[in-house]
Amino acid sequence: MRTEAFIDGAFHPAADGRTFATVSSRDGSEIAQVARGDVADVDRAVTAARRAFDRGDWALADPAQRGRVLRRLAELMTDHLDDLAALESQDTGHPIGDARGVDVPNAARCLAWYGEAVDKVYGEIAPTAADALALIGREPLGVVGAVVPWNYPLIVTAWKLGPALAAGNSVVLKPAEQSPLSALALAELAAEAGIPDGVLNVVPGLGEEAGQAIGRHDGVDKVAFTGSVEVGRRFQVYAGESNGKAVSLELGGKSPQVVLADAADLQAVAEAIGWGIFYNAGQTCHAGSRVVVQRAIADELVERLTGVAAGFVPADPRAPDTVLGALITADHLDGVMGRVERAAAGGATILAGGERAEPVPGGSYMQPTLIAADDPADPIVAEEVFGPVLVIQTADDIEDAVRLANDTRYGLAAAVWTSDVRTAGRVARRLRAGTVWVNTFDASSMATPFGGMKDSGHGRDRSLHALDAYTQLKTTWISLA
Ligand code: NDP
Repeated sequence: MRTEAFIDGAFHPAADGRTFATVSSRDGSEIAQVARGDVADVDRAVTAARRAFDRGDWALADPAQRGRVLRRLAELMTDHLDDLAALESQDTGHPIGDARGVDVPNAARCLAWYGEAVDKVYGEIAPTAADALALIGREPLGVVGAVVPWNYPLIVTAWKLGPALAAGNSVVLKPAEQSPLSALALAELAAEAGIPDGVLNVVPGLGEEAGQAIGRHDGVDKVAFTGSVEVGRRFQVYAGESNGKAVSLELGGKSPQVVLADAADLQAVAEAIGWGIFYNAGQTCHAGSRVVVQRAIADELVERLTGVAAGFVPADPRAPDTVLGALITADHLDGVMGRVERAAAGGATILAGGERAEPVPGGSYMQPTLIAADDPADPIVAEEVFGPVLVIQTADDIEDAVRLANDTRYGLAAAVWTSDVRTAGRVARRLRAGTVWVNTFDASSMATPFGGMKDSGHGRDRSLHALDAYTQLKTTWISLA
């Protein structure tokens, strides 16, 4: 297990020797002490990244060569599936089946996808008079800082590294303090795959220290961030108070599942909604955490959702058949429980769950929870809870459902369930979200962009569009006169 910072192709302790504990979500025990990177370590990593960028053995390499290395890295991840999945599950509380079947394969697939794509992206020739040839090409930005959260450490890291590295940038990555281990393991595999020294650096540490140091460093050209709205906005301040670096933000949501009275097969709808909120214990930025159901079918849907929720039993993340594992930390669980308790005290109705669970002593577990709460201003309706908590609002008609769905500061994702294709199209157009699903939830591919509107941020992960965020346009005007 790697626990030191990975800078310029080698593992190092923090400059001041400090460490912090990473703790198992499963049982609260300490897994390891990890290097606590700070300003000096980030500076060292940025210097190495800049040197590597200027050296050009990655930035100026044939894109096909960068592609081969990224595909090799993806293969190595697959070869080390068991080790990576075990680290991810232990650090985050994800069920081991999800870590093996989703987290590691999806992260590897993302790196391979950008490796496959990068030598197939062309530039442009601008329309000019015949005495000039104006070429428009894309170039890497330079040094990219990536600051990522704990909910899907490997996948979100791959969403940043794939396009950033494919485009030829150098990267300084700060994983979340709760889940640093898989990123450090990935760094070792990246070196083995052939990523040159200094091109990928990983500085574990605390947000206020290493995260802020990346945000404020004048040598960082762009920060790609996923996490909370509050911290995302701090990165904009850091940028404004330093070198005006570019910042892209993916900031979570309170995504509505709009269920209209003509939705077909309410049992299938309820099952999809259950997965959409209870997967990863609700700690998913685009979790469908809010049902907006038309009154005519509300009772039936709630009854079915209650049955679905009962099937999500909090269990040991190490058990192969577990579907609902641990929440990330005891503090986070306390926060989620506090929100549920305040909602109940304020008049919301707990329809199911609302209690802690203890399948493994010392771990942070919670029963899947359904809450009826109609006031859009109620914090349980308005705010991201990031736990296995589904809020149910009732709408009078389609117009009311659209109004309630859009009555949120977030805009990451939404879904509409209806059997009328015209209604689906009309409602989907009006839902203000970066992704709208129709009669499904959480369907995606590497070919589709992912990101938010409104307070959910800006910029897109995945797809060829993500390359835009890690490159800049250059015009080369050649006189033919
Ligand atoms: P944060 O936004 O605090 O953390 C995300 C990343 O930012 C982590 O690497 C973190 O480091 C770093 N960070 C934290 N504070 C600073 C800072 N002042 N300057 C620079 N970097 C910083 O998310 P939390 O983990 O605290 O979760 C809080 C809430 O955010 C959740 O309950 C959820 O609502 C939302 N969230 C949304 C996510 C999404 O996918 N959009 C993912 C995670 C959280 P460190 O780990 O050391 O704090």
